[in-house]
Amino acid sequence: MSHVATVAGVPVDTRHWIGGARVASATTFTDESPIDGRTLAEVARGERTEAEAAVAAAQAAFPGWAATPAAERARLLRGIAEGVEKRLEELAIVETTDNGALLRSHRRGVMPRVAHNLRFFADRLEDIGHEDFATRGHSNHVSWDPAGPCVLITPWNAPLMLATWKVAPALAAGNTVVLKPSEWSPLTASLLADIAAVAGLPAGVLNVVQGYGAEVGAALVAHPGVRRISFTGSVPTAKNIARSAAGNLIPASFELGGKSPLLVFADADLDLAVDLAVEQYDNAGQVCLAATRLLVETSIAEEFTRRLVAKAAKLRQGDPRAEVTDIGPNIHTRQIEKIDGFVRRAVAAGARAVVGGGPNTDLGGLYYRPTLLTDVAQDSEIVQEEVFGPVLTLQTFDTEEEAVRLANDTRFGLAATLATGDRDRARRVSERLVAGTVWINCFFVRDLRAPFGGSRESGVGREGGDWSFDFYCDLKNTVTAP
Ligand code: NAD
Repeated sequence: MSHVATVAGVPVDTRHWIGGARVASATTFTDESPIDGRTLAEVARGERTEAEAAVAAAQAAFPGWAATPAAERARLLRGIAEGVEKRLEELAIVETTDNGALLRSHRRGVMPRVAHNLRFFADRLEDIGHEDFATRGHSNHVSWDPAGPCVLITPWNAPLMLATWKVAPALAAGNTVVLKPSEWSPLTASLLADIAAVAGLPAGVLNVVQGYGAEVGAALVAHPGVRRISFTGSVPTAKNIARSAAGNLIPASFELGGKSPLLVFADADLDLAVDLAVEQYDNAGQVCLAATRLLVETSIAEEFTRRLVAKAAKLRQGDPRAEVTDIGPNIHTRQIEKIDGFVRRAVAAGARAVVGGGPNTDLGGLYYRPTLLTDVAQDSEIVQEEVFGPVLTLQTFDTEEEAVRLANDTRFGLAATLATGDRDRARRVSERLVAGTVWINCFFVRDLRAPFGGSRESGVGREGGDWSFDFYCDLKNTVTAP
């Protein structure tokens, strides 16, 4: 059996990358494209043996990598960023074929950001503060020491972007890594391994294992040789991983789901507010940060809804490789069934689908129509649970107090977006919102220096900027006598 699949003309090795070598498994799993359900590749299905081999490789490489001067680590990370830029077009088309997100956003937004993730943490590493201060004549020197092998587990909605968001700071800090991408989008992680090898990253510093979460994923997070786990994905998986991390008493960082609000006040620029609402359908609603709960002041709700319905009707759904497409497919038929189940139960409970409300059958089984539901109750499933599809709910409020209460009445706390023309109100409301990120009259503006993460069930800890180094390092204070 060939271990190389050709995906959109690009050869992708479907084996693991462990200790600087390609490693096959006894069995494989099938990777399909959400664009048309076509089989793309048979990918190595790792289990405990591969997890152990990958952690052993990361352990063996750790002393050498940790001792590598920061400037050299930074140089190698920049080399990987250059490799990403050189292969940007291939990475973009493979990612689109594998996870169905728009090719134009992979080309212009996501893959440049992948390179930026790597460069940003290379630069940050060279700027990291080593604090020095004196105590009764003794000097204190605070250093950021590498922690050891890190297991990094990522979901399918933004595979390479989220992988490098973790790989870059972990490697910059002097740790070695085992990356496990999602079984629904395994391909670009394999290309990253190739790019890292070409850039000269030593064997065992970055390892990539493929397979199911319940098999190789569970074995990795329970391995006693691992010093850090960083996970992006769903809440139930996070709870399983937290148990494993507790067993070995190691820090774990969790970036999880959300049910974020978009609050639209009567004093908002209505065109902007409608644009912000339509933006929430991006990536077919498969965005953790998406503001899927529209909370609109009653006095403008009718006009807002009218404009939103008109604008949503113009969204072009179809092949994510086409330049004109606004919304592509969802990741898997299982996900479509899940999304549709949420919508059907909401409608049965009295919700009204004023836009969409079902799969787009003209396009086959993997495309869900952008949907807007009104007449939803605050305590209903559709308002409280993350759908992770192109489904928004709309509720109204009469006062600022009520808006804040509705916005915060959720077990999540990832993000919140406000549309208002009143700066004082923006400040007052944002101070009271429970969220890791608040956007005022904008959405998805990200700076890698900022802390990123969620409150409540949206996550534990923050990554980004120096917060990433806090997580991936063991801080040490060295006190020297005069
Ligand atoms: P998921 O939890 O099903 O899977 C995520 C990853 O965990 C996959 O690689 C999977 O194989 C692995 N996994 C599953 N079970 C495991 C186990 N027992 N041990 C170890 N690994 C295991 O999530 P998903 O469906 O792939 O992703 C969607 C979720 O991710 C949504 O809830 C979304 O909001 C969230 N998400 C959050 C962020 C963020 O930054 N906060 C970003 C993107 C996605």
